[in-house]
Amino acid sequence: MAVPNRMRSCAKLRWLFLPCVLLTYEGFAFLCPVGTHRLQSRTRERLHGGFGLGDLPGREKTIPRMAAPSARQIGAGVAVLGLLKIISSRICDWFQTPKRPYGEGSVGSAYDEWAREGVLEHYWGEHIHMGSYNPMDKQSGYRKKDSFFVALIRATLGRLKNFKEAKIDFVHDMIDFSRATAPKKILDVGCGIGGSSRILAKRFPDAEVLGITLSPQQAERAANLAKKAGLKNVRFQVMDALNMEFADDSFDMVWACESGEHMPDKKRYVEEMARVLKPKGNMVVATWCERDPVPIFTSEERKTLNFLYAEWSHPYFISLSKYKEHLDGTGKLEQVETADWTDQTLPSWRHSVWVGVWSPWYWIKVTLRKPAAFLGFLREVYTLEKYHVSMVDGLMVYGMMRAVKK
Ligand code: SAH
Repeated sequence: MAVPNRMRSCAKLRWLFLPCVLLTYEGFAFLCPVGTHRLQSRTRERLHGGFGLGDLPGREKTIPRMAAPSARQIGAGVAVLGLLKIISSRICDWFQTPKRPYGEGSVGSAYDEWAREGVLEHYWGEHIHMGSYNPMDKQSGYRKKDSFFVALIRATLGRLKNFKEAKIDFVHDMIDFSRATAPKKILDVGCGIGGSSRILAKRFPDAEVLGITLSPQQAERAANLAKKAGLKNVRFQVMDALNMEFADDSFDMVWACESGEHMPDKKRYVEEMARVLKPKGNMVVATWCERDPVPIFTSEERKTLNFLYAEWSHPYFISLSKYKEHLDGTGKLEQVETADWTDQTLPSWRHSVWVGVWSPWYWIKVTLRKPAAFLGFLREVYTLEKYHVSMVDGLMVYGMMRAVKK
């Protein structure tokens, strides 16, 4: 039976109650020393066969009894419990209230911030996208249905593909999926710090690659990394994918890896990419999708989706079949095909957390400089796990698309 998402997310936060319960017991013992002392003395009495050390023949035997807690003690206990409940529900609310909702300029500034902070690049390398874990049977230490902590133990003891290599493999898998053979002009729509653009530039050395992003910090970092790699056939520009300055039929290949999630108008996103693609050119898109809206989303699913949209500045997601409708709807594309790569990318979500557990030094360094950053890291763990669970449950799907311009 499917467990509702809210129950699961609360089950995940349940560990917060353990210290609360311990604190409550200790707090009660502290607040009620008389009562507990009486309890202990009664226990001692039992252990000594009902006679205390002071029991002498002829003396009236006193049987210590636990006094009923006073109204003050009960009040104090209730107050402590109430306070703990308020604190834990505040923590729950804080986790469940998205912090980077989509809005005017939010995408560019979020990526500017991530590029400046450097944590993402440190752990993820040059790629801000999921990895490919093919072949899955070689990923010992990975089981789709494991709970969070079991998965951590298994992954720590077992062997997963190297995290950064999995991302590079993903780019190569996506190139193969595109069926492009020798493109001369390639556009990377939503290029991040240019990881895919540079791989494309190496794999197609005769091609010119152009990456566009909304983030000036990313464009600058991408250019520096290309220079460092000695690549002359790749450049980067700040430009909105929904209003591209390029003429129709400009590129032999249009590539978009995990940028569609941020687009406020998915139809226009697809239309713009189809417009700038040359006839016979290849379009390839990788993007997170939500499931088809049939059966209709439950209120818990809606709530989860709303969190997933807003936490990382996504306006909304659509289903893979809706994307296909948009691709077909341009009237400019043929051989439109979609594929579901949820399984081969699934280990990425949790692997993003494991790399921080296995090598904590960098985020600890950042936390020492700016303690509030720690809360941000906790949020990322919570969000990554929510994505993982949503992908396992089928609420979310990792979608792939390819097409050729007529
Ligand atoms: N494709 C990259 C980065 C993915 S992160 C990689 O695989 O590493 C999403 C990227 O999409 C960011 O660079 C962001 O700036 C870009 N993006 C989002 N909305 C955009 C828009 N409207 N126009 C251009 N780029 C956009």
